Amino acid sequence: MIRINDLHKRFGSNRVLRGVDLQVNRGEVVVILGPSGSGKSTLLRCINYLETFEEGNVFIEGKAIGRISAGGHSREMPQNELNAMRQEVGMVFQSFNLYPHMTVLQNITLAPTSLRGMHKEVAELLALELLRKVGLEEKANARPSSLSGGQKQRVAIARALAMKPKVMLFDEPTSALDPETVGEVLQVMRNLAQEGMTMIIVTHEMGFARDVADRVVVMDGGVILEEGVPSDIFTNPSHPRTQTFLSQVL
Ligand code: ADP
Ligand code: MG
Repeated sequence: MIRINDLHKRFGSNRVLRGVDLQVNRGEVVVILGPSGSGKSTLLRCINYLETFEEGNVFIEGKAIGRISAGGHSREMPQNELNAMRQEVGMVFQSFNLYPHMTVLQNITLAPTSLRGMHKEVAELLALELLRKVGLEEKANARPSSLSGGQKQRVAIARALAMKPKVMLFDEPTSALDPETVGEVLQVMRNLAQEGMTMIIVTHEMGFARDVADRVVVMDGGVILEEGVPSDIFTNPSHPRTQTFLSQVL
């Protein structure tokens, strides 16, 4: 589903990604762990080309996104093609970024109606189905400001799903939540995983990673230190820096 080849990304002189290779199969749940500043968010943002990169490629179902490079030459992808590819990739951030002046339902139907040309009635039915999935059907006409953090994040997940993405990227989706609402968001993500959604998740929720991840990827200093099934990474990490990181978070 996703193939990342030798990805390099700099911010000025700061080399943030230093040759990342990663493949994610259809239906796979990959959790990315690593200390702050190791490049996790940047890597996720490169996957839908919210960040440009200097070297390497990101392929979604075999098609390169953003910049196409081959044999030392490269060109930018036309904007309409890039937008179409971005619609295949759902993204959920730490901050929910819901539109405060719109209802929950309007937040969810906006992109499908304006970007996908979906009829309003169809989009609303889909939105209600997704709200049911995240346990918030009764909040369809509520304003985001009346919701708890966990409820807002579940709406943000429903909004991303409304575009029927092929893959969902989560960047620390529970880091900004009150502890009592973390579980409800993780449960929605568990359900998605069980339904076979392809997911790449940056999180510090180690219990969730252990239970739900098919594979855990450990990043540090812009590279992947190691990857493996959770039981191996958590009980028998091969890299000393993984051991140090895990001893700090577990
Ligand atoms: P993580 O998500 O693992 O904490 P990030 O990908 O956010 O790491 O950041 C990796 C490095 O890139 C950090 O040194 C950070 O300061 C730098 N960085 C991230 N975004 C930007 C940006 N927009 N401009 C400049 N530097 C950035
Ligand atoms: Mg981050």
